[in-house]
Amino acid sequence: MPCQSSDELKALVEEARNCTKNGKVADYIPALGKAREDDLSIAIHYPDGRCLSAGDIEKKITLQSISKVISLALVLMDRGQDDVFKHVGMEPTGDPFNSIVKLETMAPTKPLNPLINAGALVVTHMINGDTVKERIQRLLVFVQELTKDATIRYCEEVARSEFETSYLNRALCYFLKQHKMIAENTDIEQLMELYTMQCAIEMNCLNLARIGLVFAMDGIDPQSGKQIIPADIARICKTFMVTCGMYNASGEFAIKIGIPAKSGVSGGIMGAVPGKFGIGIFGPALDEKGNSIAGIKLLELLSKNYKLSMF
Ligand code: GLN
Repeated sequence: MPCQSSDELKALVEEARNCTKNGKVADYIPALGKAREDDLSIAIHYPDGRCLSAGDIEKKITLQSISKVISLALVLMDRGQDDVFKHVGMEPTGDPFNSIVKLETMAPTKPLNPLINAGALVVTHMINGDTVKERIQRLLVFVQELTKDATIRYCEEVARSEFETSYLNRALCYFLKQHKMIAENTDIEQLMELYTMQCAIEMNCLNLARIGLVFAMDGIDPQSGKQIIPADIARICKTFMVTCGMYNASGEFAIKIGIPAKSGVSGGIMGAVPGKFGIGIFGPALDEKGNSIAGIKLLELLSKNYKLSMF
């Protein structure tokens, strides 16, 4: 058991909160710019149902890039590994999450991994379903099952705000369509609708920690005993979280913290400590690579104090 009480966790949150002043809230998606820079909260979800938390944990955040792990799990279940990995690779990039550069310099064109924007757009275009509505609904039902919370929806304001300003993501899509990594019959505006809805799926830290817990327990919901994600797919997702989950800071994160984790530009981080527990963090002030600055500090304190590194 890493942390025995919420008071212990509160002390760590206050220590980590100091560094929020060195970060900046993302505003390239205009609606995200409204977040409070000094917010910081965390929830830890254990397999026996217990939950520890600190900070304003009821505050809702949008998943942004954290959603990429979830859509990957769903698409691996929908299409199987062979089909998915024909369209997206397994290697980290060392580039920022929204970079277009490797798509042109590498031949054949194929996004290096599913957690950069180019790869995530390819994965999202592979979610089964006939319409945008049907496909977002399938993803939402999956998220509701992972969180055990049937009220989970996407935030229309954030989805619209990104849809209206997402020129670079549109450019990635057209590039990928030209090179047949996105199917020729794909309507890119509809794909952007689906992707921005996916990124705007909204939840609190407790929900986020619960998703982390299912990944930590190899895809099993420890309360019901149900295998929600096949173990092999949960393993693949966790491996990507280690190699690519914190964008081009994943190597340093693995050395300093050593926990499979995925961040988003909303300031969320989902952690999955294998076999032990799930973590959900919200801290919207970001570092220069787009990761929650205080969230990383908090994970560093937790990992050191409780020896959580898997390495
Ligand atoms: N929706 C965001 C985007 O596509 C997600 C990126 C992120 O969280 N890093 O730009």
